[in-house]
Amino acid sequence: MNQVLREIPSVDRVLGEPEVAMLVARYGRSATVSALRSVIEDVRAEALAGAAVPASNELVRRLTARLQRNLAPSLRRVINATGVVIHTNLGRALLSSEACAAMDAVARGYSTLEYDLEAGQRGHRFVHAERLLCELTGAESALVVNNNAGAVLLSLSGMAHGRGVVISRGQLVEIGGGFRVPDVMAQSGAALIEVGTTNRTHLRDYETAILEAEDVALILAAHHSNFRIVGFTGEPSIRDLVGLGERYELPILHDLGSGALLDTAAYGMMHEPTVQESIVDGAAVVTFSGDKLLGGPQAGIILGRAEYVEPLKSHPLARALRPDKICLAGLQATLLHYLRGEAAERVPVWRMIATTSASVEQRARRWRRALRRAHVDAVLVTGRSTVGGGSLPGETLPTTLVAVDDDSPDRLAAALRSGDPPVVARIESDRLVLDPRTVVEEEEAGLLEAVIAATRLREGER
Ligand SMILES: *Cc1c(COP(=O)(O)O)cnc(C)c1O
Repeated sequence: MNQVLREIPSVDRVLGEPEVAMLVARYGRSATVSALRSVIEDVRAEALAGAAVPASNELVRRLTARLQRNLAPSLRRVINATGVVIHTNLGRALLSSEACAAMDAVARGYSTLEYDLEAGQRGHRFVHAERLLCELTGAESALVVNNNAGAVLLSLSGMAHGRGVVISRGQLVEIGGGFRVPDVMAQSGAALIEVGTTNRTHLRDYETAILEAEDVALILAAHHSNFRIVGFTGEPSIRDLVGLGERYELPILHDLGSGALLDTAAYGMMHEPTVQESIVDGAAVVTFSGDKLLGGPQAGIILGRAEYVEPLKSHPLARALRPDKICLAGLQATLLHYLRGEAAERVPVWRMIATTSASVEQRARRWRRALRRAHVDAVLVTGRSTVGGGSLPGETLPTTLVAVDDDSPDRLAAALRSGDPPVVARIESDRLVLDPRTVVEEEEAGLLEAVIAATRLREGER
């Protein structure tokens, strides 16, 4: 046994090999030494278990692989062929070219983040996207934070700390990723006052609770987001809640979630409540995400009446949740698309939603032809794309899917994920399918090459 262990080379000896010197030059000494230590540790463990000590070229191969793995970025671009437009796990909204250019510019150079060029003195980061948000939605005042979870937390903390918040039991939702309305409420220091039942809540339920409770600060209305209750259901509209709130001098905080500024019904789907409607209906404060239906970078937006929104700007949490310049630049550029009336064409989320089924089918046919030319068996099947991102639960858009033949769709999917670029597809009715709706034109050639490479890999496995 000791004999075998003595065969294991020392770190210094391996470092002296010419190929390893090249690795040091490429990856740096400290990364190479640390990877080498872990390779040698593995070899020692294997030797103790009775394996032979690998030859030097095998050690170098293992070391190279380890270094490549250690230094490869884990956050990488992938092709989303799932047909889920706002895919939370794949990074939600893609940004427009203009938004990317704006982010790139402020990342590379200094900017007016908190500088007023006219006055030649300190300005404020609150001004950039806020003015546009007010113009677009009719709100008096707006504030941008890191994400919508932060927007809800800040609003509740600022408006209802130590006081009661009335909410329907049907809206005590969990959005995913740990966002649960009751938990956020607890974190904000507000006291939850649940009213009604899971499926039905009446205006009088709210009123009874307001009359019975000691100190109510506001009524919270939360979008159901990612689920839909069907059947014997009902809850008061925002307008009804506003009417009730007026009688008791209580503001309505509306967590809209996805923040649509355009009408989804124009694209053959259910109508998703828009930010403008919520303001017109009289909600005092509205919160939503920047990277769902708005189609911008990750952000949380708080807007509404100045008397409620302005004080939030100096709340200590606002400082902790403030967005960075790159986010603000992307958000500003995204909002400008709406202001110019070109959002449906320029904002990728809306462009994907607006893609007609005829145009999806045309692309699917082109993909099938290209795959068949490369001797990859593919057929077209009709299917549905989803919007995702906690908006329009259960709503889908008609699409044409390209189904790639393989006796093990799971293995083909794994081969696609391991490719470069990685492709994330969907498995439906035991078939691997690709949805053109969420694949942007510039990715198309790379996607087809990746599919061809993955099917070759699968042939090799059989
Ligand atoms: C998505 C969502 C949130 C959380 O927003 P993030 O931007 O992911 O933090 C909160 N409330 C509702 C209703 C949502 O749909």
